[in-house]
Amino acid sequence: MSGEDYKFEGWMGLGPESADGKMVWQEFPNDRKPFAEEDVDIQITHSGICGSDLHTLRSGWGPTPYPTCVGHEIVGKAVRVGSKAEKGIKVGDRVGVGAQSNSCLKPDCEECSSGDENYCQHTTNTFADKFPDGSMSYGGYATYSRVPSHFVFKIPEGIASEAAAPMLCGGITLYSPLKNHGCGPGKKVGIIVSVDSATSVFFLRRRSGQTKSWVSPERPTRETTFCRWAPMSTWRPAKTRTG
Ligand SMILES: [Zn+2]
Ligand SMILES: [Zn+2]
Repeated sequence: MSGEDYKFEGWMGLGPESADGKMVWQEFPNDRKPFAEEDVDIQITHSGICGSDLHTLRSGWGPTPYPTCVGHEIVGKAVRVGSKAEKGIKVGDRVGVGAQSNSCLKPDCEECSSGDENYCQHTTNTFADKFPDGSMSYGGYATYSRVPSHFVFKIPEGIASEAAAPMLCGGITLYSPLKNHGCGPGKKVGIIVSVDSATSVFFLRRRSGQTKSWVSPERPTRETTFCRWAPMSTWRPAKTRTG
């Protein structure tokens, strides 16, 4: 494969004020991930916007390691593929990455060895986190992303990139339990979900043929969680998302 003749740059958050439209376009710092033979470099074409992006920019989940580049619903084209990359990913493939970019992947890790890498104790988030070698992860509001291939997914031809991107966070979060618990035609399900993921609920419900679903109409509190649910047919987004 060719070497690196492109720049990793993007909208960087330099402090909590970045969440208020004050991100700055600049090159990723030198502590970004060096290329490993398991990796894929992705030329980003689409990146969804998630509430987690805002939380991280604001240091809402504890101190954020600025500068940071958020975005973890990434779709783009594989432009460099390491010799040890998995899944038969080739240069030119349309691929995506979600919120997770690494885990220990050790055979004696109960989670990683059973396909539950998301529960591994040694995960790396797609942004504002560290890979095992100490390098930093930078997310998808950017030109390029470098991610271990185990966490890169080929995007099926029938799915448009703009539709695929949000499936990589909110979408999979909803799809996974529906699939794992055998939901399908004729089933009734109850889903506790924030406003963020409601669009995914609509989509997945329709695709899986469930007859009825309910969704909380606003960000749930202890008082409203159980008393203010509404059938999804009556639900409308009420406010700007909050994460
Ligand atoms: Zn997300
Ligand atoms: Zn593990």
